[in-house]
Order: sequence, then structure tokens, then C-alpha cells
Amino acid sequence: MSTTVNLSQMQKDHGDFIERVRKLSGQDVRKCYQCGKCSAGCAVHNCQGMDVSPNRVMRMVQLGMEEEVLKSKTIWVCVLCSTCTTRCPRDIDIARVMDALRILSKKNNTFVNAKNANTFHETFMNSIIKYGRVYEAGLAVTLTLKYGYGFNLIGIGPAALAKGTLPFFPPKLKNPEQIKKIVENVEKIERMEGEK
Ligand code: SF4
Ligand code: SF4
Repeated sequence: MSTTVNLSQMQKDHGDFIERVRKLSGQDVRKCYQCGKCSAGCAVHNCQGMDVSPNRVMRMVQLGMEEEVLKSKTIWVCVLCSTCTTRCPRDIDIARVMDALRILSKKNNTFVNAKNANTFHETFMNSIIKYGRVYEAGLAVTLTLKYGYGFNLIGIGPAALAKGTLPFFPPKLKNPEQIKKIVENVEKIERMEGEK
């Protein structure tokens, strides 16, 4: 037997969660009408471990399924490429919604199903903060030590190093103060959003 869902009522009942996502992402997921174009254009949907399609993520937020959506692997597997964003007829920046959900997932400590993705995310961001861009060789070594990620690169690693496509030494930051300022500003915005 099918169940009828009163979307307007659900959105009223779970307005708090929808509002928190809106504050962090600047996007109103209530506008989503489930056309599915985001999922159809997503390069990693169906092939890289997404457990919920991107359009379903939008629906779960609309329905206030906070615990379920923040535990989903999808929000971590998403590579934030923004292909979905360019396809959305409702002008929703889905990638920013995914990012907001990651922030909430980390805050609530609900990333249990995606620990490796979270480790990757943190290591990637630390590399950018430290070097101003990703230091690929350092990232591969750190992730290999943490969860064995880089073992699949052993075959191509030496060739990439020899060709210079995988620099051995980390990039040099021209102006470390600028990166420090950007990080401080982002942390400030996050704190302000958390206090709202
Ligand atoms: S493309 Fe936009 S409107 Fe369509 S399902 Fe995705 S988020 Fe919703
Ligand atoms: S931003 Fe994420 S959800 Fe959107 S197309 Fe890229 S990987 Fe898929």
C-alpha cells in the first residue's frame, strides 16, 4: 500500500533542518521539484559508492531526514564537481548543499559510514592549507599510511615521478599569509553560522 506524503507539512515540521542547510549553503532545497537532472549528469552516481542519488539527497533534506542524510556516503563521495549545479533547472547549487551537509555531518559526528572519505577530505584540506594547493605525492603517502589508499598507485607512481606529473617536492607558497587569512575567514564564517 502506498503512503501519501504531505510535502508542505513535512517542510513545516522540519523547517529547522532546512534552514540550517540554507544558512550554510545559501541554497533553498525547497525549490527542488525532483526532475532528477542532477543525478542523471553526476559522474560518480552509480559507480563510486554513492548510496543515495543526489536528487534523493535533496528530497531527504526537504523531508527533514536529518540523521539519514548526514549518515549517507553520498555527501562524502560527491567530488563537488558542480556538474549537477549547471544542470539544475531550479538554479540550486547542489554541490554547495553537499558541502553544507558534510559540515553538519562532521559537527554531529555522523560520518561513520564514510570514515575513509572523511580522512581523504581532511588530508586534502590540510595539504591545501599548508601548501596553497594539493601536494599529490604527500597526499598519496599520508593516505597510504592511514588506510592503504596509495597502494593502487604503486604501478604508475615511478613513471609519473619521472615525467614530472607527480612532483616529488611540495609546492612553495608565494604568500603564505594570504592562505592563512582565507582559512581564518572561513573559520570565522563557520563560527558565525554555528551561532545563528
Ligand atoms: S536538478 Fe535541481 S530540481 Fe532537479 S532534482 Fe536535482 S536539485 Fe532537484
Ligand atoms: S557535485 Fe557531486 S553530486 Fe553534483 S555532479 Fe558532481 S559529484 Fe555528482
